[in-house]
Amino acid sequence: MPALDTGKVLVTGANGFIGAWTCKTLLERGFSVRGTVRNESKATHLRKTFASFGDKFEVAVVEDMLEEGAFDSAVQGVDAIVHGASPFDLAVDDPAELIDPAVKGTTTVLTSALKHAPTLRRFIVTSSTGAINTPSAEMVTVSEADWNEGAIAEINEKGAEASPLGKYCLSKTLAERTAWDFYNKHKGEVGWDMVSLNPPYVFGPVLHEVDKPEKLNTSMAWWYGAVVGGSIDNESLANVGVAWVDVRDMAEAYTLALTTPEASGERFIISAGPFKLQDFVSIAHRLHPQLHAGNTEYNPAKAVHYTNYVTEKQRKLLPIKYRTIEELTGDTLENFQARGWF
Ligand code: NDP
Repeated sequence: MPALDTGKVLVTGANGFIGAWTCKTLLERGFSVRGTVRNESKATHLRKTFASFGDKFEVAVVEDMLEEGAFDSAVQGVDAIVHGASPFDLAVDDPAELIDPAVKGTTTVLTSALKHAPTLRRFIVTSSTGAINTPSAEMVTVSEADWNEGAIAEINEKGAEASPLGKYCLSKTLAERTAWDFYNKHKGEVGWDMVSLNPPYVFGPVLHEVDKPEKLNTSMAWWYGAVVGGSIDNESLANVGVAWVDVRDMAEAYTLALTTPEASGERFIISAGPFKLQDFVSIAHRLHPQLHAGNTEYNPAKAVHYTNYVTEKQRKLLPIKYRTIEELTGDTLENFQARGWF
């Protein structure tokens, strides 16, 4: 059970929404971090953000993670890898645009780890509840024992006509499966183990480089549209939503997953609980009355949450004190206000 308390962590996709918070949290816990980005210009903001950590933060440019050997040099000398680089884009036609980078990127970094990371002790896969189920209007209780077979069936049946979320969920399902298959095939040869973290929607303040709301990552663009932009109709505000986690708690989950020996070989759903979009809108309107009120008929006590994620294992092995919806909304709006976004 090779967990670690100290050392150097490679974070792929360091310039993304979750990646930047992951780097920050690991640095604050005393780890050294090497973050990967696709080109040097994407590193400038990170270097500035983490300047106070001195040489504990460094950047590795990996131009094309689909190229064989892309991570060969980036993995050298690291004690752990947090792999998060993968597209979360709901506007693609061809499912291959998501599946190829998700799956091949995972294989590439694992292959480099196998060949060039003799000091590696733990590999953490950023998966998703999308690899567990595709949310639907059907009552389900799901746990880490479940895999999203529905996404595979949907793409087989509909191809490019599949739902945007279905395509994304499939990319996460196949990528996580690829990771476990790779690990199970090679575990006898390596000195490291694997953990996967499966969050639902991740929301929260923005730390990565974003100059305007239109450039927000997919989950935060949706949140911004609902809460600030007023771009979602009242019916959807009251009825649309699955489960959520604050990005800062997700970053904490990575730290716990690295430092907890018993996490070895486990998948973990990382979820603070269910939501409907109106939950955020109501709090936002209370805190900032100039923001829209949304659906004033909404009664949270009557909201029907179709997906129940079982989180016992996470709560026992990776005990996170989840932020509340109020904290998330308040802090995120403060972050947006400081940027002049409302
Ligand atoms: P972002 O879009 O903010 O970050 C994605 C990161 O992956 C960026 O660094 C991006 O680099 C990189 N990336 C994307 N495609 C490629 C590619 N083809 N080659 C190399 N790098 C690539 O998204 P999030 O931070 O939200 O997502 C991070 C991870 O978390 C993903 O694996 C996502 O599936 C997962 N996740 C996210 C959830 C959410 O609600 N946000 C929920 C569940 C899981 P670049 O900037 O250069 O494009």
